[in-house]
Amino acid sequence: MVKPNIGFIGLGRMGAPMAKNLLDADYPLIAYDIVPSKVESLVSAGAKAGSSCRHVASESQIVITIVPDSPDVEVAVLGPDGVLEGATSGDIVIEMSTIAPGVGRRVAQALSQKGAPMLDAPVSGGPQGAEAGALSIMVGGPEEAFKQCLPILQVMGERIEHFGPNGSGYMVKLCNQVGCVVTIQAVCEVLSLAAKAGLDVRKVWQTVGSGLAASRIMELHGPKMLERDYAPGFTLALQEKDLRLVAAAADELEMPLPATSAVHQLIRSLSAKGKGELGTQALVLAMEELANCQVKG
Ligand code: NAD
Repeated sequence: MVKPNIGFIGLGRMGAPMAKNLLDADYPLIAYDIVPSKVESLVSAGAKAGSSCRHVASESQIVITIVPDSPDVEVAVLGPDGVLEGATSGDIVIEMSTIAPGVGRRVAQALSQKGAPMLDAPVSGGPQGAEAGALSIMVGGPEEAFKQCLPILQVMGERIEHFGPNGSGYMVKLCNQVGCVVTIQAVCEVLSLAAKAGLDVRKVWQTVGSGLAASRIMELHGPKMLERDYAPGFTLALQEKDLRLVAAAADELEMPLPATSAVHQLIRSLSAKGKGELGTQALVLAMEELANCQVKG
């Protein structure tokens, strides 16, 4: 079967490796980012350079977007020279950013009026998962479009689930973020309690991380905290954006999320100190300040 042309918009920490995997799987790909240097590195891997979101959409049957936040998706899809202007009936948009479910539904509606269904398909797994083509992908939107796009999603992810109409993929991603932030905070508290007690923190991490408190986050973020390596895979700024989305969704549902709200305040305190561009493992810095201790080992 002839592979459809894919337009790829947003070549950041997640988008660049995801697009690269599609190229490696022999999908013809046209790529665009508002930062031209990001397009260049993908062109050297075999992609065609797009000059705008509209241009990318006009040359593709499937358009993938993965940009930071709800307003960025609105600009990329609905804005001047956006995807909506370039899309034609029968095209499918796979929107993979983490954004507000309500904004996603509005964007999907605008596209569907042009005969172009949208799937919301946010991801989990970080840049490592993106590079390995091993993301979890949480999908909402028309079932038929999902079936058509499944082979493409399978290039980028391992666990791919369809949850219902547009917006449901984004909502699952918000549930995922609750799990991530509360678990990161748990790891921060384990390590800072160990430091405060004067224990060998690395040994504590190894032992606790092999028992019932083991988690992927303990495994991946623990060593970075011990080595004081705060280089971002996922920034605190994006995490704070996600927690704003979680809080808005919880307000609408009158849903108490006590642990998540507490972590949100800690992340906000780090952002207020200009640390938003550090990786989420830097949450440990907030615990260090609260406890007056230093986590290293
Ligand atoms: P990033 O900031 O590294 O990349 C975003 C890219 O989008 C940038 O290159 C930016 O120039 C581009 N962009 C912004 N507006 C644009 C527009 N209008 N048109 C074209 N390009 C535009 O962000 P990221 O870490 O890749 O995250 C992207 C999305 O994926 C976010 O919604 C984030 O919450 C989500 N996410 C990130 C991770 C992670 O670990 N980094 C994990 C899961 C989900």
